[in-house]
Amino acid sequence: MLIRPSIAFCASISLSLSIFCGNARASDNLGVLGSKPKWDVLENYQETITHDEFAHLINDVYCTHGFANDLIKIDNDSAQILTNREPRKIFTLHFASDTNSKARVPRLWRPAKSLPPPKANKPLAGLRIALDPGHLGGKWAKMEERWFKVGESKPVTEGDMTLRVSRMVATRLRKLGATVLFVRNSTDPVTPKRPDDFKELARKILIKNGVPMPRTDVLDPKDPEKEQTIRWQSQILFYRYSEIRRRAVLVNSKLHPDLVVCLHFNAEPWGDPGSPTLTDINHLHLLVNGSYQEEELDFDDERFEMIRRVLGRAYDEELPIADTIATSMAKATGLPAYQYPTTLITTKVGTSGYVYARNLLATRLYRCPVVYCEPYVMNSNDVFARVQAGDYDGTKEVNGVQRKSIFGEYADGVTEGLRDYYSKARGL
Ligand SMILES: [Zn+2]
Repeated sequence: MLIRPSIAFCASISLSLSIFCGNARASDNLGVLGSKPKWDVLENYQETITHDEFAHLINDVYCTHGFANDLIKIDNDSAQILTNREPRKIFTLHFASDTNSKARVPRLWRPAKSLPPPKANKPLAGLRIALDPGHLGGKWAKMEERWFKVGESKPVTEGDMTLRVSRMVATRLRKLGATVLFVRNSTDPVTPKRPDDFKELARKILIKNGVPMPRTDVLDPKDPEKEQTIRWQSQILFYRYSEIRRRAVLVNSKLHPDLVVCLHFNAEPWGDPGSPTLTDINHLHLLVNGSYQEEELDFDDERFEMIRRVLGRAYDEELPIADTIATSMAKATGLPAYQYPTTLITTKVGTSGYVYARNLLATRLYRCPVVYCEPYVMNSNDVFARVQAGDYDGTKEVNGVQRKSIFGEYADGVTEGLRDYYSKARGL
């Protein structure tokens, strides 16, 4: 039960949510550090969506693994959505009778088609793009287990690499006219909380999950039972749940972007970070929000956040953006599409073959289109050599092939995708 799932390395967030379902409040069934849902807000979305659009998004994107009968009931004119099990409460969403009679969708972000026409060489003019470099850097990388080192080589730390790529992407996007915002622009966390703030919650979660007397400390990094310690759990509550929820507050209440691009590097399991396993496997995929598991839908806050996302219609915009970036990144990197070893948590969507729907904290909570990039296996022989080569101008021979720097290649791939999408969508 307390095994940390790591099916897709960077994105192993939602599984932990469903496993560690502890929460001190008895009346609300909330996910870890979740907020009480504000169902009244959804009144603003009455008659903004037709029955067919709603049913399509629920069945083909968000609830592809099914859901308990009492959670969502779709009739011809309305949907009944369970807001609370005890006492039983329902939110009724009324559908628009047809496409022409739809009310305007209330939202702060702007789809490409609603932006004014840009100048010829500025396809991103007027657009607000937030860049979200995945994880933390510097001294936090080891705690986050986004750190490994081969012999005397430089350590590979995902959170520093994503920040580096984000800054390179920012320069490129600004040249194309975008206003670029950073969700994180230092190696430090966005959340003011620290692991010690979560000791008590960590203890409660462990007890609830069948560890009656949890140990305080991890005795050694290879300790097989480290996940059952208060130290380890309080660190996860800090760097994952608290950090990403704080980033969501920043995105939703301060940055107000039209799009968030989350930048990550992927990995295959590497074992001992001081003596990691290197592999020949290397791949690329992108994620958008969707594909909720039944047990995730059971949480009142997650169900609410999903319905809000369905009604905000971010998918209509983020899917074609993800597909376009996937195509440009596949061209830039030459990488094959990642194939998840299970279909239980993801659903392939779009046309490029590289994009999956998956329910991650960031893709669910940022209230605008979100594209989550997962290129490169950091502990592949090829990527490891390219990371060690660092950033450089032009091309250089790495592993016998002339290549751009991996950071420049990543930044160019993302930029080209955004340029292509917005140029086409804005009629350039
Ligand atoms: Zn990551």
